[in-house]
Amino acid sequence: MCAQICVSIRESSSEKAAESAARAAEWADLVEIRADFIHDLDLDLLLRAKRKPVIFTLRSREEGGAYVGSERQRLETILQAASCGADYVDVEFSAFWRVILQGVPHERVIVSSHDFEKTPPDLDALMDAMAASGAGILKIAVQARRLADNLRIVDLLKRARQRDLKLCALAMGPEGLPSRILGVSWGSWVTFAALPGGESTADGQLPADVLARQYRARENNRETLLYGVLGKPLAHSLSPRIHNAAFAARGTNAVFIPLEAADFDDFLRFHESVALQGVAVTLPYKGEAHAIAHSVSVAAEQTGAVNTLILRKSGWHGENTDVEGFLRPLKRRAHPGKMRAVVLGAGGAARAVIYALRAEGADVCIVARDRGKARDLAEKFQAEHAAWDRLESLRWDLLVNATPIGMLPETDRSPVPASWLTGEWVYDLVYNPAETRLLKEAGRAGRKTISGSEMFLGQAWKQQCLWCGSPPPEDVMEAALKAALTTTNLETSNK
Ligand code: NAP
Repeated sequence: MCAQICVSIRESSSEKAAESAARAAEWADLVEIRADFIHDLDLDLLLRAKRKPVIFTLRSREEGGAYVGSERQRLETILQAASCGADYVDVEFSAFWRVILQGVPHERVIVSSHDFEKTPPDLDALMDAMAASGAGILKIAVQARRLADNLRIVDLLKRARQRDLKLCALAMGPEGLPSRILGVSWGSWVTFAALPGGESTADGQLPADVLARQYRARENNRETLLYGVLGKPLAHSLSPRIHNAAFAARGTNAVFIPLEAADFDDFLRFHESVALQGVAVTLPYKGEAHAIAHSVSVAAEQTGAVNTLILRKSGWHGENTDVEGFLRPLKRRAHPGKMRAVVLGAGGAARAVIYALRAEGADVCIVARDRGKARDLAEKFQAEHAAWDRLESLRWDLLVNATPIGMLPETDRSPVPASWLTGEWVYDLVYNPAETRLLKEAGRAGRKTISGSEMFLGQAWKQQCLWCGSPPPEDVMEAALKAALTTTNLETSNK
């Protein structure tokens, strides 16, 4: 069989594991039962009513598992599981695997190796040694420390294909996510996922619904166009949700993946082998993206930051879509050129906002806790600057919060006391939550408000236009963003 998504079940009792295995059938081609987490192991109960082929795994502590009994008992239980109906049994290459191969048909034995520290240098030699065991399936899981570690998985899978070996290879951790999402398209026998709503069994394991629907792990193939978000850390990035929704609605064979690079060179190395068509760049790589771009737009040049890379024949072209993303919702409602604006903050986002407002002809005053940064920006963009304690006395038509104050999880904070909100418009760049304390208080004071979620959507919409040459369905992206914000808010409030 050609398996693809294997949902790994981690439960403390046989009954719960059997229930979860039944639920997993909705997304799984295979189900792995991690029996080492079960305290009342009942093989009959676990395997009797299986709805999908089962891998039985009783992982030893040495290889990251939770099994506490004797090694002899462990191997005996694995043999028993094979005779009770487990379709596949897993045994570590570091264990006495010969016993298992003597008792179970070889095509049903997975010999596995895990390295939780690193991606070791000689994976080929390891695979060759494991293949010599005669097991039907090999599994090699390593810890990624860099994005480039995924390339070792690509090469290994290529060699396995040449030798006609059934190999499941993956890199764990956030840097290894490409190997989990694209693994099957690179030739991996299977990619592992967690039960949606359940606990994962390994670092970086994605829920099966996310892997199957959002990242289309089954459909990806060699023709799939690759896009991604580059940054570090990326755990809370919402970009994959909205860009994958846009690609799906367009019907394009494309996927947008997280690219958590150790440094910028790491990203460049990854791209040399796994060609990306376009990249959304976030902290801390916007400056380096600007530096390596073969050409940049005026907005990117003026802000010194590239948040979007587009692959052209001549090399990377750099854009800053925060500028248009910021202006789009504002210009739909008002004429920024006639405004007097106060911008709070002097970081990367503030730069894009100040450039955008000045380009429209607005008067801008920058208020930042670091007076030196505010002064430098004011000089560059012919704006004014003022100390934070003068904020109360400043007159404005538009107040823009370009600081992270009010962002999840500190949602009870606001950069400005409610009584100082005396102008017409308040625009908060913070998009998570979509309605910050600042915006709530501004609304109550009768001010007109714009949420950072509209800017986030606007800049992503522009990225899609640049990558695909045509506008994406905005309503689909908006719905995906709304759903993503609801999920992250729920996750945070449940913590
Ligand atoms: P950044 O480069 O780190 O700049 C943050 C700015 O806020 C700096 O000027 C920093 O001052 C200031 N700041 C931080 N904490 C502060 C505090 N407690 N009091 C006063 N000032 C404070 O970050 P960024 O990229 O500009 O992002 C800023 C915010 O905009 C973030 O919440 C980000 O999520 C949001 N954003 C939204 C969008 C969107 O599409 N809606 C796009 C980009 C950014 P120091 O320099 O003194 O540290």
